[in-house]
Amino acid sequence: MSYEFKWPVYGHSSQTQFLKSLILQKRLANAYLFYGPAGLGKKFVADFFVRSFYCQSDSTKPCGQCQNCLAIGKKIFFDLYKLGDREELSIDNIRGFLQKLSLSSLTANHKIALIYGADTINLFGANALLKTLEEPPAKTTLILISDSIENLPATVLSRCQLLKFRPISRQNMLLWLENFDFSPAERETIVNLSFGRPGLALKIMEDNLAEFKKANNFIIKMLSGSRFNYMQTLDKWFEILKKENPDSKISDLGSLTKKYLAWLELILRDLLYLKLKREPVNEIYQTELTNIAKDFSQEGILKNLLSLDKAKQRLDRNASPQLLWENLFLEIK
Ligand SMILES: [Zn+2]
Repeated sequence: MSYEFKWPVYGHSSQTQFLKSLILQKRLANAYLFYGPAGLGKKFVADFFVRSFYCQSDSTKPCGQCQNCLAIGKKIFFDLYKLGDREELSIDNIRGFLQKLSLSSLTANHKIALIYGADTINLFGANALLKTLEEPPAKTTLILISDSIENLPATVLSRCQLLKFRPISRQNMLLWLENFDFSPAERETIVNLSFGRPGLALKIMEDNLAEFKKANNFIIKMLSGSRFNYMQTLDKWFEILKKENPDSKISDLGSLTKKYLAWLELILRDLLYLKLKREPVNEIYQTELTNIAKDFSQEGILKNLLSLDKAKQRLDRNASPQLLWENLFLEIK
């Protein structure tokens, strides 16, 4: 039997091919471990794998309409078990989960147990898990999902089939981004900022780039104005921040400032790229950055990056965010 697989997955082609072949052969191993850096889409792929495995359609998988597809969609499908999506992987949670799983193996259906965040399992949890992996309940498949495998004991790893996920290509990232309503420069910028990790891109796109643009507009305005101008901008900015977050403490403004320092670092690096005649990461503001770059020397930008580093350290020691920005921009100019 051949099915049409409807998985909206970009990249990860060898991994998805392998998983699709398992569905066609209807033969699952006792345990798989999906691993690779956060934000690659391991959970997303696992979700489509599980849906397709249980889907009853003879043509498209997952069809989204059969009894099983609907039950999984409503989270009332009895043969699918999940742990670590909301709750932490404490030893008690793991034990309870595995016990439920072993009892459930008495029914006729094949069970799949998904365990998210396996990299957060401690040694005791891993030992409990190992017991299940060594004596797996009948007709049960465990899928562990982990951002890294360094903390997992070799004994656990050796019981799982490993499936490694890697960052997806620039080309695939751009293809995927065509599903979203962004300009070409915005797409390029998102790809440059997310390093082949769709999860990271989704975080940046969450607010339609609003935060990114707000931060960039603020920093670019400060970098292109006179000293008097940016002091005024800065005062206004902190006024707005305090108004927007009336109950916030200085430390909250500090964490917001940290974010903005990261954007500033990105802008300074881009200025350096432009000096070196390289493509900037931030293509949305390329024109503005090219203009600003004229006011800076290469050495000046390097010095500014060092000042920025020091500012970050001062922020970690609870310096006032406003003073810190003032000093930083006095140094930068
Ligand atoms: Zn279906």
